[in-house]
Order: sequence, then structure tokens, then C-alpha cells
Amino acid sequence: MKNVIIASNNAHKVAEIETALDFEGWSFQTLREAGVESDPLEDADTFLGNARVKAQAARAISGKAVLADDSGLEVDALGGAPGVHSSRYAGEDGDDAANNAKLFAELAGVPDEKRTARFVCTLVFIDEDGSETTARGTIEGRIGHELRGDEGFGYDPLFIPDVLGGELTLAQVSQEQKNAVSHRGCALRLLREKLQER
Ligand code: IMP
Repeated sequence: MKNVIIASNNAHKVAEIETALDFEGWSFQTLREAGVESDPLEDADTFLGNARVKAQAARAISGKAVLADDSGLEVDALGGAPGVHSSRYAGEDGDDAANNAKLFAELAGVPDEKRTARFVCTLVFIDEDGSETTARGTIEGRIGHELRGDEGFGYDPLFIPDVLGGELTLAQVSQEQKNAVSHRGCALRLLREKLQER
């Protein structure tokens, strides 16, 4: 049996990770479930850097195999913002409503063709022997003009992915449909392939 600590307490992410990495004999625990307190300063300027900070901190405390992710939204008209600051774009960490309102305000007057954006997810897996495997996934799309849909979380209700036809937001499809095309889904499938090759 291999026990992997997921360096996150976000239930959406944990469920998706467990489904994607369905290797025989693997079991997962969140930090909370493992009784591990780890909240390192995410001060890197890349998604990879921040995922690594989280993975290394969880590994140092638990001594087990760990998986961390860092993700966010890059908007081209804003020079890549909110980027690594996605969860605290409007100030308070994880205030989705305020973050979405700020993004609409920053993009006021920006026409559709310049509202291009992408979600990015980077995963860092550190195995029991200390070896690191990383994977990155993206989903391209654009920022809409109003919030639509009740599924998902974060910026989903204002993000319109190209791959869904350019009308629906990521909050207007089921979790399953989202996982099939999302940045995190792509990164997880790539990580799965890389781990299988090892
Ligand atoms: P973190 O990876 O937990 O640091 O999350 C970064 C932030 O990016 C989240 O708080 C959300 O605002 C945003 N984000 C990341 N992935 C998604 C997604 O799948 N949908 C919507 N927002 C996301």
C-alpha cells in the first residue's frame, strides 16, 4: 500500500486527484486527514515554484510521498494577471466573488477578441525516495461579460473555454465534463503517464 499526502485541503481538487491517479495499491490523504499542519509562504513567481514550495513543505513534515498543485488564471490583456495571485487577486485569500468582480472591472471596455485567457495547473509529485515528477496542463479560452453557471469554483463562471464551443462557461458543465478538458485534468493525465513510465 502506498500512502500519498495531497498538499491541499480543497475538496474539489482532492476528489479529482483521487479519480485520476487510480493506481493499484495507492491511497490518498489530505494534509488535514494526515494530521499535518503545513501552510508555507507561496512566494514564488511561477506556478511550478509555488507547487514545489507546497510539496517540499508537506514532504519535510510527513516524510511520505506527496502531491501538490498550484493553479490560476492568466489573462493576456492584463499581462498574465492574476496569475500566481489568482486566489487573492482582490485582497482576501479565496474570495471568489470579489476576485471575479475585480477581473470584470479590470477588463471593462476590453473587446471579446482581446479577452483571451487560460487556466494553468502545475503538479509536483515527490515520491518516497525523494524523486520529483512534474506535469503542467492548460485550457485556453476567454473572459465573458457576466457570471454564468453554478458548477465548479473560483473563476469558472466567467471563463469560456474554446474547447466547449466558445459559449458555455466552465461553471455551466458537469464536474465530469470539466475534468475531461480542464488544466488540472490535463496535468493529471500527463502526470499519470509519467508515473506509469517510471
Ligand atoms: P491554488 O492552486 O489553490 O493556489 O488556487 C489558485 C486560484 O486559482 C483559485 O483560488 C481559483 O481562484 C483559481 N483557480 C484555479 N483552478 C481553477 C479552476 O479550475 N476553476 C476556477 N478557478 C480556478
